[in-house]
Amino acid sequence: MEDCIFCKIAAGEIPADKVYEDDHVVAFRDLNPQAPTHVLVIPKRHIATLNDLTADDEAEVGRMVGAASTIAADAGFAEAGYRTVMNCNADGGQTVFHIHLHLLGGRAMAWPPG
Ligand code: AMP
Repeated sequence: MEDCIFCKIAAGEIPADKVYEDDHVVAFRDLNPQAPTHVLVIPKRHIATLNDLTADDEAEVGRMVGAASTIAADAGFAEAGYRTVMNCNADGGQTVFHIHLHLLGGRAMAWPPG
């Protein structure tokens, strides 16, 4: 989608510190990390929010989760644990309107989140 920063990262049009890529998803380091490892996993296809998901997107979301667990294993904190987060719209704290799964690891997380 034109003017979507994550579509441009997926297309390689703007730089990102990519840690994983396949035909369907891309993962790259967050510019403002909230943990020693903070990676965003996105679908290559533009989907603005979780509210826009359709049945056709189920496989895409499954691939995002699978990529996150692979990255966690490769980073070495899968057994210690990690957090995944998907924010939706204003009250969820979503600021980029192309769905993304935050993968945070490398430290113990508190609950509830702010
Ligand atoms: P959210 O608030 O859930 O929409 O998360 C958006 C995330 O994208 C934030 O954690 C930002 O730091 C991150 N972000 C925004 N632009 C970029 C970028 N160009 N490269 C990497 N991370 C970004």
